[in-house]
Amino acid sequence: MKMIGVIGGMSWESSTEYYKLLNRHAKARLGGHHNARSLMLTVDFAPIEANQRAGDWNALGQQMADAARQLERGGADLVMLATNTMHRVYESIEQAITVPFLHIADPTGEALRAAGVERVGLLGTRYTMEQTFYTGRLREHYGLETLVPDEAGRADVHRIIYDELCHGNVQDASRAVYQGVIQTLAERGAQAVILGCTEITLLIKPEDCALPVFDTTALHAQAAVEWAIDTHQPRG
Ligand code: GLU
Repeated sequence: MKMIGVIGGMSWESSTEYYKLLNRHAKARLGGHHNARSLMLTVDFAPIEANQRAGDWNALGQQMADAARQLERGGADLVMLATNTMHRVYESIEQAITVPFLHIADPTGEALRAAGVERVGLLGTRYTMEQTFYTGRLREHYGLETLVPDEAGRADVHRIIYDELCHGNVQDASRAVYQGVIQTLAERGAQAVILGCTEITLLIKPEDCALPVFDTTALHAQAAVEWAIDTHQPRG
């Protein structure tokens, strides 16, 4: 099995989900005492989050490139980034390493296409919902039309991610807020919803939703394991 390199810590609450999912999926696929061969590099999220707020994506690109290089030097055969938002700088990562990089939007886009979805709601940080790096890839590579919440909805979704979920604080009241936002997206024509932030899986489960759920954390982890056991190659 190949070695999966994970850039984690953004936040570590979601990185622990990745760790469990990578190992559970490898065990489900291979049985016995198998788990996923992996290296996780945990960055300190405080300076990352400060750079996000400052809009310093150049500095963030360098920080992510450094982390990816360290993983490759450590023996990673594949690098993945355990956050949607930081895919804003995925080109800096790809340029820094010689091993493949598994973009989080790709397994998500593939799963949506396979399910026959054409118009999908997207929940994530403001950066993911409002900039084009994520919705553009879904449109260009997978032909998907993406709907995001209105301004008030985006503010709620973003605040709950940073103020609660990144601290491991999971509140019923916040689940209800998300359910309301998802309901509105459904009324606007969304056929499914992307949990496009790796912490949302802590709050929203498929049974909480009126729409089919595409959980980027689970899809990304599963795709990495499939690649590591040689059945699926990242797009590159
Ligand atoms: N983990 C989150 C995401 O998937 C947000 C934290 C971050 O900004 O990296 O977008």
